[in-house]
Amino acid sequence: MALTKLAGAFLARPTLFIVGAIAAAVTLACITAVALYEMRLDAFARARDAADNLSLILQRDIERNIEVYELSIQAAIDGVNDPAILRLPPQIRQRVLFDRSTNAKDMGSLLVTNSAGDVVIDSQSAPPRKFNLSDRDYFRIQQQSADVGLFISKPFSPKLAKTDTSIGLSQRLVDSQGQFAGIVVGTLRLNYFHRLFEGMTLGDHGSLTLLRTDGTILMRRPYNQGDIGQSIAGVPSFKPLIQADRGSYIGIAALDGARRLYSFKHIGKYPLIVVVGLATEDIYAEWKRRAWAIGSAVAALDFLIVVMSVLFAKQFRKRLKMEKRLHLLANTDSLTGVGTRRYLDSALDVEWRRASRNKQNLSVLMVDADYFKSFNDHYGHATGDRALRAIARCIIDSIRRPGDFVGRYGGEEFCVLLPNTDLQGAVQVAEKIRSAVLATNKENFGSPTGRLSVSIGVAVFDGNAMPGDTADQLVHMADQRLYEAKAAGRNTVIPQQELPQLAVV
Ligand code: GH3
Ligand code: MG
Ligand code: MG
Repeated sequence: MALTKLAGAFLARPTLFIVGAIAAAVTLACITAVALYEMRLDAFARARDAADNLSLILQRDIERNIEVYELSIQAAIDGVNDPAILRLPPQIRQRVLFDRSTNAKDMGSLLVTNSAGDVVIDSQSAPPRKFNLSDRDYFRIQQQSADVGLFISKPFSPKLAKTDTSIGLSQRLVDSQGQFAGIVVGTLRLNYFHRLFEGMTLGDHGSLTLLRTDGTILMRRPYNQGDIGQSIAGVPSFKPLIQADRGSYIGIAALDGARRLYSFKHIGKYPLIVVVGLATEDIYAEWKRRAWAIGSAVAALDFLIVVMSVLFAKQFRKRLKMEKRLHLLANTDSLTGVGTRRYLDSALDVEWRRASRNKQNLSVLMVDADYFKSFNDHYGHATGDRALRAIARCIIDSIRRPGDFVGRYGGEEFCVLLPNTDLQGAVQVAEKIRSAVLATNKENFGSPTGRLSVSIGVAVFDGNAMPGDTADQLVHMADQRLYEAKAAGRNTVIPQQELPQLAVV
């Protein structure tokens, strides 16, 4: 029911099609925008998971390798502290002190120094190569402080072998009195981190960084020799890295200015941090491509919907206009411009039912031109037609209320419907019509008055229909009064005498 009402409203007002289409287009655009926004959030969430996983893998790999190295250093310390081992011939002692792990790919020398920094045991050669490490940071820090533990040095180029840039991992040696007795230091080529980083899938603009907790860069991808050993301790994006053990944030890279989603993790108990940075450019690249495709398709669809609705509404409006015109043509008497007999019948039916339903009055006037036959005969049909038009004009001008209706009943007879009008009002209107026709002052040779005039019969229905009462009876009653008016000498209005007992009229 509501649906048919809605359809009716749409059919009556073509502009509603455009409004509806615009609403549909806007809704579609909104749904698409929400979906795209969700997709963007999803892309970000997936990237954060990927960055977290990557940083975890790197953290575990680096931690495990340093642990292995630390164990080798610890084994060397234990050996150095064992007099029985120190008494062994140098060749045998080498084997006992430095297990095979020190021969691993990226591990350099394991060296033991005395308290002056002179190398006393060298994993690479026996007797040891002669050099002094007292100027190295990994020596001095162990010399100055007893509780450093495993120290990871800044990157440096090893003095002896012409190998790649390395870092040193040092542990303090103490004598039997607890005094500083030297260090054990192992070197680890940064190439290990380089290879580890290059093996990761990262996206075109991603970055991987391994830092000491003091901000010194040990390795970075994309690799740039100049970055190694630099400190980023002063840049704002460094702060979050030392405030928590792990985490993620969005920041602008200090080194290349790229905006990235960072996920960082501290490497176990070691003073190292691994930072994975996924460029927002990479994160949203696929999303952007899809958003453009979907957005353009929806925009095109929206445009099409609106254009089609405008064209449809235009066409529909034209059709409605034409229908209205046809309806008007079909229902308008071509000579006088008032309603046709058919239109009059249907209007009478509608008004009769409305009056019955609402218990309202319905007045009917029957208007007939006086001595019109002789008018025609005397002045000709063309003049007769003009006179009929004048009479119609007089009637139209006299009925001004909405709902009032005039139709041509036949020949020179008109029928006027006055809904919700009582007898007194109907007589007033009838008098107005009669005097208006007379006031046209058209000559009628055949009339005793000498002028064109009309006679009018008036009948009123009070809205209380008895079973069997019909609208035709009401017209018939008005017609009876018209005859009485003719009989009374014409140019007159005769109303019914009392409110109707329609059935007995
Ligand atoms: P009465 O006063 O009793 O009504 O006399 P009357 O001559 O008007 O009699 P009646 O109503 O019978 O006459 C109808 C005449 O109206 C017949 C015809 O000459 C004229 N008439 C009917 N239709 C038309 C029309 O469309 N055009 C013209 N010019 N005359 C018409
Ligand atoms: Mg007549
Ligand atoms: Mg007549």
